[in-house]
Amino acid sequence: MARRAVASSSSGSGAAAATVVLCGKEEKVLGVQKAPGSCPYCGGGVAATDVEAKWALCCLPLCRKTKRRFACTACARRLVTYPAILHDD
Ligand SMILES: [Zn+2]
Repeated sequence: MARRAVASSSSGSGAAAATVVLCGKEEKVLGVQKAPGSCPYCGGGVAATDVEAKWALCCLPLCRKTKRRFACTACARRLVTYPAILHDD
């Protein structure tokens, strides 16, 4: 498994070998707070997590937005449709 063949370069171009390209999404948690209501699965508390999502393409920030994510603090389920199932009774 650990044997590595000495590379006889497969691609002919002489481009830089190890260019680190950071493309993709990066998420940063801004804060967690308690959300009203309770988990529909177990009745536990719900935490609202504010996440800042940042999409970057080769170090160029494309867009950035914050979103709120709900999750149960007891069973750790992610409550994707939580605002829609928020019952107030
Ligand atoms: Zn739960």
